[in-house]
Amino acid sequence: MLILVVNAGSSSLKFQLLNPETEKVYARGLCDRINLGGIFKYINCLTEEEFTKNEPLASHQEAMELVLQTLVSPEHGVVESMDEVQAIGHRVVHGGESIRKAVLIDEEVEEVIKRIIPLAPLHNAAALAGIKACEEVMPDKPMVAVFDTAFHSSMPDYTYTYALPYEFYEEYHVRRYGFHGTSHDHVSTLAAEVIGKKREDLNIITCHLGNGSSLAAIKHGEVLDTSMGMTPVSGVPMGTRTGDMDPAVVKYLIDNNHDLTLEKLDKLFNKGSGVLGISGISSDFRDLYDAIEFGNDRARLAVEVFAYQVKKYIGAFMAVLGDLDLIVFTAGVGENAPRVRRDVLSGLEKFGIELDPQKNVSSVPGQINEISKEGSKVKVMVVPTNEELEIALKTYNLVKSLYE
Ligand code: ADP
Repeated sequence: MLILVVNAGSSSLKFQLLNPETEKVYARGLCDRINLGGIFKYINCLTEEEFTKNEPLASHQEAMELVLQTLVSPEHGVVESMDEVQAIGHRVVHGGESIRKAVLIDEEVEEVIKRIIPLAPLHNAAALAGIKACEEVMPDKPMVAVFDTAFHSSMPDYTYTYALPYEFYEEYHVRRYGFHGTSHDHVSTLAAEVIGKKREDLNIITCHLGNGSSLAAIKHGEVLDTSMGMTPVSGVPMGTRTGDMDPAVVKYLIDNNHDLTLEKLDKLFNKGSGVLGISGISSDFRDLYDAIEFGNDRARLAVEVFAYQVKKYIGAFMAVLGDLDLIVFTAGVGENAPRVRRDVLSGLEKFGIELDPQKNVSSVPGQINEISKEGSKVKVMVVPTNEELEIALKTYNLVKSLYE
């Protein structure tokens, strides 16, 4: 079965055509700068042909049409017709409170995604545009929506409730939702499989550390708590996002810096803060480590603040889980930066977390690696995330009965 995975952003549309049973990827790419003088990147994974070209891409629908034309084209294509593709899986960031798992898309689901737009204005509006675009160009193809928030929907009220007047929750749905759920779900499932246990029998902390970062405390297979909140800006510091911060900072800065407005601050907290804000040079850990080699003290500080906060969350999550079996690192930083993993876990030996320094530095990117010492009470693993594959698997599970 072939599944087309679509991840629509406000001005972009990423796609991947793959077989979830064999995990073989046929083609992938990106329509970028939609409605801004578009760029189309395409990789035919069967022939390894790659190209990037300028395309008008006036709308998500035009982008989708171009993707489909390319996938079936005699020159660049990977299938003869879209009849070979059984379903489409859409990444949707926010499912709000009512959607707790991946669902087949119908009018009602579209209505819910639309209703939730205020909670994730850029993301959910874009996802809806991607869904509508697919409906226009492939009206009869079954479609599934896979939500970033869904895996966290098991959180109990005492972990998702903010200590605000309760009416803000009742009237405006202000609460912790959590994000990166597809990734936390994927890597925790794989890690449990690799150690030959059921995820339901384990307590796991997953650390998705990328440009955006979040941790999840997974108790017996269900999320108990997660570091991101109502929006992805909270939790640990990230590439460009603040992470947790005293909300009084907002009024203080606006009172004291008359160039700042709420809109500017919101942008700064999301795009100009995190390790970029502290270092003043980059959101990319590779650049920060290079700068540290040249004695840049703010790069050193940025990396230390990040590792300290991740460690703090691990400590907090160990306490609320009560017992811990497994820590999983994933995403760009978690998979590729042994120094971050070392700094995050240093000093936790007394809690049964013993990193093997050699295994940590020789962990192979793109593979599952166990990096704890033989006999460490808590196992530590690096597991590559693959959100597209997880979306394709969830889509496959929901549509396969339609084809039996
Ligand atoms: P996103 O959240 O956008 O999906 P990724 O998970 O791809 O991001 O993570 C991207 C980040 O991973 C980069 O900004 C960089 O900080 C980090 N990264 C990637 N490769 C390395 C590496 N070899 N060493 C250290 N950090 C890395």
